[in-house]
Amino acid sequence: MNSAPAPAPAPVPASGPRRDAPAPNGRPNGSRPPFRGERRGGNNRPGRASRDIRRILRRPSPVAQKAREADYFPALPAENVVRIVPLGGVEEVGRNMVALDCNGDIFVFDVGFHFKAEDDAPGADYTLPNTAYLEKNRDRVRGVIITHGHLDHIGGVPFLLPRFGNPPIYTRNLTAIMIKRRQEEYPDMPKLNIIEVEPGQSVTISNTKIKFFPVTHSIPDSMGASVETLYGNIVISGDLKLDHENGIPSEREVKVWGELSKDKNLFFIADSTNAQNDGFSIPEKRVQLTLDEIIKTVGSRLIIGTFASQFERMMHIIESAEKYGKKVVLEGRSIKNNIEIAELAGILKISKNTIIPAQEMGDYPPDKILIVCTGAQGEEFAALMRIATKQHKYIQFNERDTVVLSSSVIPGNETSVQKLKDNLCRNKVTIIHYKSSDVHSTGHGNQGELIWINQQVHAKFFMPGYGYYSMTSSHAKAVEQAGRPRDSIILADNGTVIDIEDGEKLNVHKHKVPSAPLVVDGFSIGDRQEVVMRDRQSLAKDGMFVIIVTVNVKTGKLRKSPDIISRGFVYLRDSQGMLNEARLLIKKTVEDSTHNMNPVDLDYVRNQLGDVLAGFLFSRTNKAPMVIPVLIGV
Ligand SMILES: [Zn+2]
Repeated sequence: MNSAPAPAPAPVPASGPRRDAPAPNGRPNGSRPPFRGERRGGNNRPGRASRDIRRILRRPSPVAQKAREADYFPALPAENVVRIVPLGGVEEVGRNMVALDCNGDIFVFDVGFHFKAEDDAPGADYTLPNTAYLEKNRDRVRGVIITHGHLDHIGGVPFLLPRFGNPPIYTRNLTAIMIKRRQEEYPDMPKLNIIEVEPGQSVTISNTKIKFFPVTHSIPDSMGASVETLYGNIVISGDLKLDHENGIPSEREVKVWGELSKDKNLFFIADSTNAQNDGFSIPEKRVQLTLDEIIKTVGSRLIIGTFASQFERMMHIIESAEKYGKKVVLEGRSIKNNIEIAELAGILKISKNTIIPAQEMGDYPPDKILIVCTGAQGEEFAALMRIATKQHKYIQFNERDTVVLSSSVIPGNETSVQKLKDNLCRNKVTIIHYKSSDVHSTGHGNQGELIWINQQVHAKFFMPGYGYYSMTSSHAKAVEQAGRPRDSIILADNGTVIDIEDGEKLNVHKHKVPSAPLVVDGFSIGDRQEVVMRDRQSLAKDGMFVIIVTVNVKTGKLRKSPDIISRGFVYLRDSQGMLNEARLLIKKTVEDSTHNMNPVDLDYVRNQLGDVLAGFLFSRTNKAPMVIPVLIGV
C-alpha cells in the first residue's frame, strides 16, 4: 500500500456556497459533517478527509477483531485440573457448544448453529462455534453428547464433526433420528457413529463415566448429563424448564433433581434463555389445554401458526384434532418433516385419514378443518405469510377463519410479526395470540425454576450457560440473590478457559481460545471471511462506485473520459454535476500522479485514485461508498 499523501477536499463552511467545478489546484471543494465525537472545524489539514475515509473503509468489523485475538491455545491441563471451555452459546442464543477437558479426555456438549447472522455476517447462511481448540486436541476428543434435537444444539454436526475427528455421538432416540435426517442432506460427509443412550443410564468412555438424566423442554427426549471427575461431577443441563403446578415442581422433577442432589457436584452449567423473567413459566400443559379448548369450540376453520421446534405442542394439536374429528392440513416443510420424525420415533400415532393434503379441504365442512403451519414469526416465505398475502396455491383466508399465533415474538422479529398481523387483519380473520390467551409457553425456565434447580444441584461452582450476556448475567444475579456466593459464579464468554485446580481453586485464563464464529456462506465455511463480511456491510450501508479509466502507459494521459458505474449510492441522473466534477478529478489525479513517472505504476495510480475519490464523494454526499478504480493500461 502506498503512503503518499493524497489530495484532500479543501474546507469551505458547511453552509457556504458550493462551486460545482474543482478548484484550480485540483482539489474538490466542499466540507463534510464531523464524525461522531469529532469537533467541527477540525478538518483543515491536507489529507485529513481521505485518511478518515480510509479509516472508515478499513475499520475492522467486530468479526474481524475477534478473529485477530484468536490464537491462544493453553497447555494441556495437569492431572489435578478439570477444564471447561464454552466454545459457543454464551454470547448468543444459538450455536451451543461446551468442551470439557478432564481425566485426559475431551467431551463436547452440543454442536449447534445460529441461524440469524445478519449483524455480524450479512448474507451468510449461519454461524457455527469455533472448533480450533478441539482441532488442536482432536486425538483426545472422545465423544460428543447432544442434549436434544433443536437446531441450535445439532445444527453444526454435519459441518463440524469431521474437523475434530468425527467422534461418536451419544444421544437419545428422537435426537438421533433428527441428526441422521439432517445428515442425509450432506451425503459427502463421513458417516456418523451415533450411540443411543437413555436417562438413568451411564456410560464409561475412555477414562470417564457419564450419566444422563431427563429434563423438561419443548421437544421430547431432552436430557442433561453429569460427568464424573476425581473432584466431583460436572453437570450440564441442556435447555430446560420445570414441569410444575403453581410453582410447585412435579413429582417427576423432584425425583430427577433429588437424585442429582445426592451427588458431589463440582460445576454446574444451566440454561439462561429466560433468566430475565421472574417466577415460573407457564407450564406447557396449560397451553395444551387452552389449544384443546380452542380446537374443540371454534366453529369455523382454524389455523394454528407455530414453530416446528415446538415438537410436543404439534403432537398435542394433532391429537386434539383427532379427538374432535377434525382433519389436519400440515403446511411448511419443517412441520411436515418433524411430524414424520415423531411418527418414526414412535412417539406419535396418527390414524391414517387424519392428515389430508390442502387440495382436499373442500371435501369437508370448514369447522372440520385444522391447518397447522409454520411462520408465526412472519417469516417471508413460510406458509402463514404466503396464505396471508394470497400467494398460497390452495389456501385462502376468509373472514370466518380463526388464526391462532401459538408463539411469542422472538426478539428481532418484531417488524416481521407486525407485518404478518397487518396482513392477517386485511383478511379480516379472527386472531388469537399469546398476549390474549395462554396459547404459547416457552421451553426455557424462568428465574424461579432456575433457582430451584440450582439449589438442587448445589454444585461448588456455577456457570450460567446458553444465552446472551444480559441473560447469563441475570441468571448469575438471580442465583446470587438466592444465596449462592458471588465468587462461585463464573460469567464466561465464548472461548473462556476455566480451570478448576484440585476441585477447589478456580483459574480463569486471561486469554481466550479462538471463538470467532465460523461462517457458513454458500459452499464455504471459515473464520477468515471477515473481509467479505466487511465489504458486504459497507456495500449495504453506502453502496459502490466503480471508476473505469483507460490510461496511456507511456504518457499517463487518459485515452477517453472515465466511465462511472454506481450501485446503491446516489441516484446518478440527479447527480450529473457531481459526476462531471468526479470525472475532472479522476483525470487530474491520474495525470498528476503519473507526471514524470516512466514507466507508469498502475497500482500506485489506482491507490491514489481510490483515496482521492473516496474523500471527494464523502465531502459531497456524507456517504462512504466502496470505491473501485479499474485502470486499463494501453
Ligand atoms: Zn432447545
